[in-house]
Amino acid sequence: MTTTTTRIAIVTGAARGIGAGVSKRLAADGVAVAVLDLDEAACQAAVAEIEDAGGRAIAVGADVADEEAVKASVEKVVAELGEPTILVNNAGVIRDNLLFKMSTADWDTVMSVHLRGAFLMTRAVQRYMTEAGWGRIVNLSSTSALGNRGQANYAAAKAGIQGFTKTLAIELGKYGVTANAIAPGFIETEMIMATAERMGMTFEDFKAYAVREIPVGRGGRPADIAHAVSFFTSEDAGYVSGQVLYVAGGPKA
Ligand code: NAD
Repeated sequence: MTTTTTRIAIVTGAARGIGAGVSKRLAADGVAVAVLDLDEAACQAAVAEIEDAGGRAIAVGADVADEEAVKASVEKVVAELGEPTILVNNAGVIRDNLLFKMSTADWDTVMSVHLRGAFLMTRAVQRYMTEAGWGRIVNLSSTSALGNRGQANYAAAKAGIQGFTKTLAIELGKYGVTANAIAPGFIETEMIMATAERMGMTFEDFKAYAVREIPVGRGGRPADIAHAVSFFTSEDAGYVSGQVLYVAGGPKA
């Protein structure tokens, strides 16, 4: 059954890249969106785009790994938009290096943003979902969860996100809350551009190299991920929970 209730979503790491694409798509779906990123000012462009298209959005500045900032950001969303019942844990960073060269700080940063961040955000928002008897959580994993050279920290965090997601699905299912993970492959964003730079390749060369291995023969775009988020957060997807969807232009284990 569908309903006309206006849903309120928080999308983290939404100033650019996949998060911005997801925010725009959810707004187009009729959801009011809190565009959250480290820097509130950086969220303004995405907010303006949503408003220009007739949607509703606010900018929220917060570090998802900071417990107090997370609490304050959720309070701001409740005060300015209403109680959130959709959460997309998308904020992410990479600090790639081969294991023997990986610093403890780079390990901790990646764990902190992806795992602690998703935990803090979800814990802060779940009460609005359980009180409403309806909620949708989507967590960004990665094909790197299957293992990727130079990404011991990121691969561990993204595999951890999958276990976290399945546990949320088990704990929150009886409250009408679903939790699913999306594991993107190669998506053209600033994160990928930074990877190309670190490997000493131009973005175009790096893309050509990556696309050779992608069955559909192209790089992914934020809209490809946003489409999957739109499905998982839709009213009628209430029986789909605890899943990991690889959105990578081909099969992944
Ligand atoms: P991106 O670097 O373009 O954007 C990430 C955003 O997260 C940035 O705006 C950044 O400011 C924000 N962010 C970082 N740390 C934060 C924090 N502590 N608190 C709040 N915001 C923070 O990256 P993207 O490519 O759009 O990636 C989005 C998500 O998708 C990430 O979780 C990433 O790991 C995942 N992912 C991306 C790809 C890809 O190919 N681009 C592939 C697999 C998974």
